[in-house]
Amino acid sequence: MSKSVTILGSTGSIGVSTLDVIARNRDRYHVHSLTAHSNVQLLATQCQQHRPAYAVIGDESRLEELRNALRQLDTGTQALAGEEGLVAVASENESDVVMAAIVGAAGLKPTLAAARAGKKILLANKESLVVAGSLFIQAAQAAGANILPVDSEHNAIFQSLPVNWQDGLAHCGVERIILTASGGPFLDATDEEMHRATPGQACNHPNWRMGRKISVDSATLMNKGLELIEAHWLFGASPDQLEVVVHPQSIVHSMVAYCDGSVIAQMGTPDMRTPIAHALAWPDRIAAGVEKLCLPQLGNLTFREPEFHRFPCLQLAFDAMRAGASAPIILNAANEIAVQCFLDERIRFDQIAGVVAQVLERGGQGAVNGLDDVLEFDRMARIHASEVAAGLAGQVIR
Ligand code: NAD
Ligand code: MG
Repeated sequence: MSKSVTILGSTGSIGVSTLDVIARNRDRYHVHSLTAHSNVQLLATQCQQHRPAYAVIGDESRLEELRNALRQLDTGTQALAGEEGLVAVASENESDVVMAAIVGAAGLKPTLAAARAGKKILLANKESLVVAGSLFIQAAQAAGANILPVDSEHNAIFQSLPVNWQDGLAHCGVERIILTASGGPFLDATDEEMHRATPGQACNHPNWRMGRKISVDSATLMNKGLELIEAHWLFGASPDQLEVVVHPQSIVHSMVAYCDGSVIAQMGTPDMRTPIAHALAWPDRIAAGVEKLCLPQLGNLTFREPEFHRFPCLQLAFDAMRAGASAPIILNAANEIAVQCFLDERIRFDQIAGVVAQVLERGGQGAVNGLDDVLEFDRMARIHASEVAAGLAGQVIR
């Protein structure tokens, strides 16, 4: 029977790739609901192509515009708006699968709603796990929700783990989880080049085409830091079981090392449609339209240690993971603000880590007992980060 899929963030990079995979497998999947933050035009076009029951626009001021567009295209789709609309479609009875592909902590409430409703969740929105990992995993377990990782590294790890990994990593002979990092566009850049880096340069990733926020995170290596925390929650890995290795070709998507010396890696052409298709069809396999991997053509696969001193965001994330409690929430919120300030050309690229570090140092750290605490730490960290960034504004140089 055809499965019905809801895509939270359908107009983004992951959302568009998900629709592409669904279009290639129309006998198995159909679209239940689509959501976007503000791009009414693309959302309406997607509704015309996929005829979902609901379309949600995050920005409530655009609801009327969306209604008109859907009416004109005669899609038969009902329009909803705001966080309430996102939560409603994420937990709607009629949908089987929810692709969580909103960027940032904005995805938390709808993704959590999908977990509480016991959905099969294809998880791209790593920030949800970073800020509320414990809550999220508990909610999923209580409701019987199945979380399938879409982030390419975590999907690779999932594919390389033994079937009984949920009994505990050490129990099934897993020694370490090794996340690969491309190193981003500034892997070999000089300090001066990073000092003068423009948003355009930072978003010009050598191997992947992604949204702007994750592209900047890849350039600072904060993305790898967030992914460490994501792996910690997804696989129950302790900080000591997690490692990062730089692999500029992005062919090995991550690895699992076992106590007998075996290292299992998952490889593939860097194209997010592979992990999306894997998560969608698991335990089956479906076509994803991805170019075949040709190793002789690539010639060399190389690996090296990450340079923590040149990419301080990676160290900040490692430290926040070890500190636990509110530290990852503060790290993530401060980073979201700092990245946006950089994209708006209000701070420099090499100031992003400093903003995050200052907000973490300023403290306000403490225990997290539920969603209200998560939201409050997130709110305070955003205020602090905006203040720190405002103090730096005006120092942008070209
Ligand atoms: P993107 O910026 O291309 O798309 C984000 C989507 O979220 C859009 O549909 C946008 O309309 C929606 N959105 C943004 N802010 C929102 C808000 N406040 N409320 C409701 N909707 C909102 O981002 P992306 O690159 O597709 O990344 C999405 C998520 O997937 C991120 O968490 C990212 O870390 C993760 N991810 C992406 C990739 C990739 O290749 N793009 C790879 C791994 C993980
Ligand atoms: Mg990734």
